[in-house]
Amino acid sequence: MTYMDDTVYYPQDEMHTALVLVTSGCSYNKCAFCSMYKDVQYCQVPFPDMEMQLRSGYAYTEKVFLTGADPMSIGFDRMKRLLDLIHRHLPTCACVASYASIRNISAYSVAELSILHDAGLRLLYIGFETGRDDILELMNKGHTVSEAIEQAKKLNEAKIPFNSVVMYGIAGKGESVANAAATAKMINRFVTNRVITMNLTIFYGTELNKRVERGEFVPASGNERLLEIRTLLENLEPGQPMVFDTTHPTNLIKIKGTLPQDKKRLLNEIDRYGCPADLFEKDIQ
Ligand code: SF4
Repeated sequence: MTYMDDTVYYPQDEMHTALVLVTSGCSYNKCAFCSMYKDVQYCQVPFPDMEMQLRSGYAYTEKVFLTGADPMSIGFDRMKRLLDLIHRHLPTCACVASYASIRNISAYSVAELSILHDAGLRLLYIGFETGRDDILELMNKGHTVSEAIEQAKKLNEAKIPFNSVVMYGIAGKGESVANAAATAKMINRFVTNRVITMNLTIFYGTELNKRVERGEFVPASGNERLLEIRTLLENLEPGQPMVFDTTHPTNLIKIKGTLPQDKKRLLNEIDRYGCPADLFEKDIQ
């Protein structure tokens, strides 16, 4: 099987965006909850192949999304060359977006990120997952909270906007409220365009699934997770307008709005499901 046969993952907001495959597999591939690239060997797509993808693109393409788990893993020189190539073949493209990880970004200096911004890199989707170090370690995420904040601030300095993906339920039963508060505290330390929530799913074959089977990780109930979303939302205090978005298909409840002005409406929408705190109390009785 070649990388051209890989399953391609992309954010739901990029459903109509032109895709360019940059990497195959995941350069890290060790997160305990992730099954996406378990059977795929990491490799970087050669430039002639990426150029071929661009040549077949619509000439008036306005946005391109780079696919693969972590296109930023190709490093500064290749990323700059790729952005220049995109500009040459798709001169009307005003925004190149990509997945990225905290580990990938740590390999770039602020000056390099600024150059990439000027070359067209205008949106990243980053998996922060949680603002708790013990949970990041438990999930073998490969970064710490302080590293996440440091890299986020570098992106702010380089003016590269990014969406922060966080995962509720990730801390397990009884830990959701503390996890939400810690995650909000982390996000409040930097500027992000959007907080995108995902609901932890236990996928077959993952390390997390084995822990569940051994009784070492007990998933939080739906009511506890609802309370986690509410706690996260309640504790987010962005310095600049920021979208709060739970519309990813895994979510228990689909709400979306801009903070701070829509916070009350969004909290009311959650409470319309029934007060999560009361429901959670019933859960644990
Ligand atoms: S969650 Fe992302 S970084 Fe972690 S193994 Fe999966 S694709 Fe790789």
